[in-house]
Amino acid sequence: MVRNYLRTVGRHFSALFPPACAGCDGVSITGLAFCAICAPVAHRIEEPCCSRCQVPMDLFRPTGANSLCSRCQRQPPAFDSVHALWEYDGSVADAIRRIKYGGDLPALRALCRGASPWLSQHLYDLGPDLPVIPVPAHPTDLQRRGFHLPSLALRFLSVSNPIVPCGLRKERPTPRQATLSLEERHRNLIDAFRWHGPSVESKIALLFDDVLTTGATADAASRALKLAGFDSVHIFVFARAPFISGSKPAT
Ligand SMILES: [Zn+2]
Ligand SMILES: [Zn+2]
Repeated sequence: MVRNYLRTVGRHFSALFPPACAGCDGVSITGLAFCAICAPVAHRIEEPCCSRCQVPMDLFRPTGANSLCSRCQRQPPAFDSVHALWEYDGSVADAIRRIKYGGDLPALRALCRGASPWLSQHLYDLGPDLPVIPVPAHPTDLQRRGFHLPSLALRFLSVSNPIVPCGLRKERPTPRQATLSLEERHRNLIDAFRWHGPSVESKIALLFDDVLTTGATADAASRALKLAGFDSVHIFVFARAPFISGSKPAT
């Protein structure tokens, strides 16, 4: 009886206040992440992609399980795979900017609403008991921003895997990656992360961040996890940049 009443109230509430769009000030009447205007410019990652870093590859290149982009062939990253839902472009980049620099939590909720089924399924497929580790920020960065995006996103997402929020730590503050060249990004992050969590049992780590651009952060964090004893590290992000170098502006 009470449940039916709450359900009816909820339906009326949703009709009066439809869910926010992640990318603009509009609403998503479908209940998905983006409104009808933003949805067409929120691009899902499509094959063929590099099997390591998931950068989109040339359509005419032969694909397969070991199809690596030139950068991963030249200099393999410390992580073993990347799983991103969207390209970091268009409405998705707008949404991330609104969240990251504007503290827009309704936009984060909307993004999580859209990504939740995909993410839950992928994490579950790799192993429902595997720990999910949010990529940490240094306390000074946290103070500036007021919240930790990957941790908050994991709370909004319906993830059934165990979450290990404080195992990996960022030991020192680093300049904002967006202001640096590709080389500088990698240099900037050497030894920046360290594992302080319990002794490693699972051997497989699932690392969660909001976006992957050059991959420098994911690489440095994965290196720290492998030093701690994890055999493989798989990166999960909302979005990854649809280009290979650090030549485009990134967050
Ligand atoms: Zn919109
Ligand atoms: Zn690659």
